[in-house]
Amino acid sequence: MANKLISEMGLPKSIANVLSARNIRTAKEALSLTEFDLMELLDVGLAEVTSAVAHISAAVSPPCQTALSLMEQRIKNEEFSGHIPTKLNGLDEALCGGIPFGVLTELVGPAGIGKTQFCLKMALLASLPVRYGGLNGRVIYIDAESKFSSRRMIEIGASSFPEIFNMQGMAREMAGRIVVLQPTSLSEFTESLQQIKVSLLQHEVKLLIIDSMAALISVEHGQQAPRQQSLGWHISFIKSLAEFSRVPVLVTNQVRSQHRDQAPQYSFQDSSNAGDLERADKYDSRLVAALGINWAHAVTIRLVLEAKSGQRYLKVAKSPLSPPLAFPFIITSSGISLLDDEGFELRGQEISTIHFQESDTRMLNAGHNDITKFNG
Ligand code: ATP
Ligand code: MG
Repeated sequence: MANKLISEMGLPKSIANVLSARNIRTAKEALSLTEFDLMELLDVGLAEVTSAVAHISAAVSPPCQTALSLMEQRIKNEEFSGHIPTKLNGLDEALCGGIPFGVLTELVGPAGIGKTQFCLKMALLASLPVRYGGLNGRVIYIDAESKFSSRRMIEIGASSFPEIFNMQGMAREMAGRIVVLQPTSLSEFTESLQQIKVSLLQHEVKLLIIDSMAALISVEHGQQAPRQQSLGWHISFIKSLAEFSRVPVLVTNQVRSQHRDQAPQYSFQDSSNAGDLERADKYDSRLVAALGINWAHAVTIRLVLEAKSGQRYLKVAKSPLSPPLAFPFIITSSGISLLDDEGFELRGQEISTIHFQESDTRMLNAGHNDITKFNG
């Protein structure tokens, strides 16, 4: 803006010519002089200089926006960008329509809790034809742990949308739209991000899934918590990909044990209650998201998947649109199903605590037998 040429601002010819003759060509050059300097330099009167300065200032100032126009613009953007419904009614209602476009949505939880099951269903929903409530788009599925099971995905599709999957060639067509990348290192993933950027900007891709981001980072860092600065570039790149392409980005994150003397401090977490830490000691394990605080701030929505007393729960732990809520869920042949669409509100430490007890491992392991049956 500051380098905008005065000759292109439609100033009266008399003053434009004088400015040009004195080598004042850009808005910055004119506006960095006082009005008296200009009067002296151009040899014109105060009224003429004041009017020229006002004209130049107006030409380079960003247009004023009222709160109303900003709100209208936001609604327009949301209509354009929208959400991809998860078809989990309670969750869709809480998130005002589903997983929002243009931002990062994170699924965090212990191994075997259902993160990949959620991702597989979302991949199917994005590739489903629009007339059946899908986005009819391509999906990029980054499978960092080589756990992607096409057989399980087809099973989820055939059980969830039997009428569509039974149509001649439909399962094939949808599966053909889901591109699975299996990077073996962070640098391979980093390289593929450039290609992903091109595909996203060409508007072919309607959903980007990274399952899991923590696994990609831990390849480089072993079992240790990743250093925040090494994540920084990836966080900003993926965030800007989401923003510019307006594509929903779904990322999974694993959990790690936290040392007793470290307290998690996320801005969306209520840490005001001094008794919380003490109470948390009573949990069999204290788990925190594997990717730390910078990552937690970068995601717009954090969904926590956890298990408590043999029951799985899906928690909306961070959302600009919803209060913290928890929904009990099960995993069946058709993927994740909520047992109750109402959910219940969470308070204090419960919002960010990731429950997982020894007894729950048995439940998840029993379930793992199911998935090995379907792997392939
Ligand atoms: P990880 O962090 O190890 O990748 P995850 O959270 O991605 O774990 P998933 O692979 O999504 O875990 O979930 C595995 C669980 O899904 C199994 O433990 C099992 O309970 C359940 N599951 C898989 N297939 C079926 C099925 N056909 N019917 C019922 N439950 C199933
Ligand atoms: Mg998984």
